[in-house]
Amino acid sequence: MRTIKKSVYYCDFCKKHSLRSLKKHEAHCTLNPRRSCGLCENKFDYPGLVNKLKFTTEEGEWPASHYKILAADLMDPVGGCPICALTILRLFMRSKSDDAWTFGTDFHFKDELQKWWDAENEEAARRDYGYEG
Ligand SMILES: [Zn+2]
Ligand SMILES: [Zn+2]
Repeated sequence: MRTIKKSVYYCDFCKKHSLRSLKKHEAHCTLNPRRSCGLCENKFDYPGLVNKLKFTTEEGEWPASHYKILAADLMDPVGGCPICALTILRLFMRSKSDDAWTFGTDFHFKDELQKWWDAENEEAARRDYGYEG
């Protein structure tokens, strides 16, 4: 019998782990407050944006509060980048993790990401192929 020892890499920020290095993942991880964005190529002050995030609170089912977060309030400060918006949302949720709460948002990450790529593709088609849609 033989045993093989392998290193398992763990992200410092989220629960992801892998047998391959997560250095690249960590640089862009949406729970890394100092991440840089691989999609919009910006680097925002995410903790600052989390502090400024507008939300409303409703009485939830006791003892939880119910936070309501609007997609526009996540998207506007980051120029509409869905991954940066997701970063704010995840960091916000983590900052509240000690309290009992639930939350609702009209931010739909996959839809927003799809819209982002649709717009990118259309722009590329215009630029590279003279597409006039
Ligand atoms: Zn991570
Ligand atoms: Zn971004």
